Amino acid sequence: MGGVAEMAIDEAAVMAVLEAVLDPEIPVLSITDLGIVRGIAQHPPRVLISPTYTGCPATVAIETSIREALDSAGFADVHIERVLFPPWTTDWITKRGRERLHAYGIAPPSPSATVECPLCGSTDTAEVSRFGSTPCKAQWRCNACLEPFDRFKCH
Ligand SMILES: [Zn+2]
Repeated sequence: MGGVAEMAIDEAAVMAVLEAVLDPEIPVLSITDLGIVRGIAQHPPRVLISPTYTGCPATVAIETSIREALDSAGFADVHIERVLFPPWTTDWITKRGRERLHAYGIAPPSPSATVECPLCGSTDTAEVSRFGSTPCKAQWRCNACLEPFDRFKCH
């Protein structure tokens, strides 16, 4: 590299900031658990993120949280860039994210028709409503322990 080298941002430090930004709907999940952080690019420094569900009100809230977190960590010059393709799917939720969802009592997304109750582990479960506490979740109920729970919707 010759000439006037642009200062490269510390990607690990930026990732650490993003790691601490929580999903507004499921505060046990960070946005990195959610899999919406696609990476960090240089020149100009920017965070690449993919919005979750189209029209999900959380998307704007998440971007606002990222902006605030970057600013307060001294990365005010790092931009946020949306990457729309390929679109985010629930498959991008990390293994740790799935474990955290489960521990929080939300059934992690899975393409299988069988949904395991996050409370007792029974697969004798049924969907109660397509619409759970937020547009991204469906409400389910376990027939074994009779507890209701949320399930992350799949695309
Ligand atoms: Zn159960």
